[in-house]
Amino acid sequence: MRPYEELIVDIPNYPKPGVVFKDLTPAFADADAFAAMVDDLAAHFADHGITKVVGAEARGFIVGAAVALRLGAGFVPCRKPGKLPRTVLRESYALEYGTDVLEIHADALTSDDVVLIVDDLVATGGTTTAMVRLVRASGARLVGFGFVVELAFLDPRAVIAAETDAEVFSLV
Ligand code: AMP
Repeated sequence: MRPYEELIVDIPNYPKPGVVFKDLTPAFADADAFAAMVDDLAAHFADHGITKVVGAEARGFIVGAAVALRLGAGFVPCRKPGKLPRTVLRESYALEYGTDVLEIHADALTSDDVVLIVDDLVATGGTTTAMVRLVRASGARLVGFGFVVELAFLDPRAVIAAETDAEVFSLV
């Protein structure tokens, strides 16, 4: 068992009844667990020529920036509306009730970039789909997804596969 696995805590009925929230903060707080998590994700994509890691706020920043550093790549944030100061591309995505929006700086990626999308957890794949569309709109080449946790019972791979054939890799 990798050191981060036993430090991911299930919180039943959070943030609402019926949801089991995966709390990764103890795994981020443990130096060995955090390093192993980042190393395991980076090692899988080490030979892919990644130039940029893209992550969404807030927990995607924690894992994504660390993986980018390990890969020798840059980090590009996707943010909630109104947080990025320059010209943005925007994409809305479905939530369980209603929609939300993610933005990326319009000049953050170019057609020369080879992109890895990183997030702490993929559930329905809605957030990931918005990031795929932002990367595509920016003209960069998306080669993969690295997730710490994949909630496979929600079948996010089917949702992602409808958008792209880029490789999906999850640690847990
Ligand atoms: P989704 O768009 O449904 O794939 O949800 C992905 C985002 O929501 C991730 O960035 C997670 O941080 C968060 N999230 C969704 N479900 C959970 C869960 N059960 N436990 C922890 N985080 C979650």
